[in-house]
Amino acid sequence: MMNRNQPDNIVLIGAGIMSATLGILLKRLLPNCNIKVIERLGSIASESSDAMNNAGTGHSAFCELNYSPELEDGTIDIHKAIKIAASFEQSKSFWAHLVEKNCLPDPVHFINRMPHMSFVWGAENTSISRKEV
Ligand SMILES: Cc1cc2nc3c(=O)[nH]c(=O)nc-3n(C[C@H](O)[C@H](O)[C@H](O)COP(=O)(O)OP(=O)(O)OC[C@H]3O[C@@H](n4cnc5c(N)ncnc54)[C@H](O)[C@@H]3O)c2cc1C
Repeated sequence: MMNRNQPDNIVLIGAGIMSATLGILLKRLLPNCNIKVIERLGSIASESSDAMNNAGTGHSAFCELNYSPELEDGTIDIHKAIKIAASFEQSKSFWAHLVEKNCLPDPVHFINRMPHMSFVWGAENTSISRKEV
């Protein structure tokens, strides 16, 4: 268990978005901690976190059909969608906090609202998507 009054040595393996997020969370909670990030490559955020290696969308779950599957009885299970949406709202709160603290630049540089469209085809998929709205 970490003691809030003592600096702690923390090692994060991999310099992607997860270590960056966890690292800044830990630093806010434990300002005296020493964090070392170990990365096997010659640059940071070069794998999945590289903007060219992912789709760049925030998973808000409001329009992503895989988060609300159809159950065997034909109803739509929205539990995962609600959980993902809540997590995304938490992320936005955290980013807003970091902007206020001047740890992140103007949000226009890293997050933008975009129209999102879910596209399905076939009678079965169309009927499921109608139940989702
Ligand atoms: C095609 C694709 C599309 C995606 N689209 C989206 C999207 O639209 N929205 C979204 O939110 N997410 C998306 N994701 C997921 C998102 O990109 C990842 O969840 C996220 O980047 C993972 O971050 P990470 O820090 O865990 O991993 P990474 O960014 O992969 O970082 C891991 C780092 O650890 C290093 N490493 C690994 N092993 C070691 C070791 N033993 N020692 C030292 N270093 C090590 C690696 O070199 C790497 O730099 C997508 C992913 C893919 C692949």
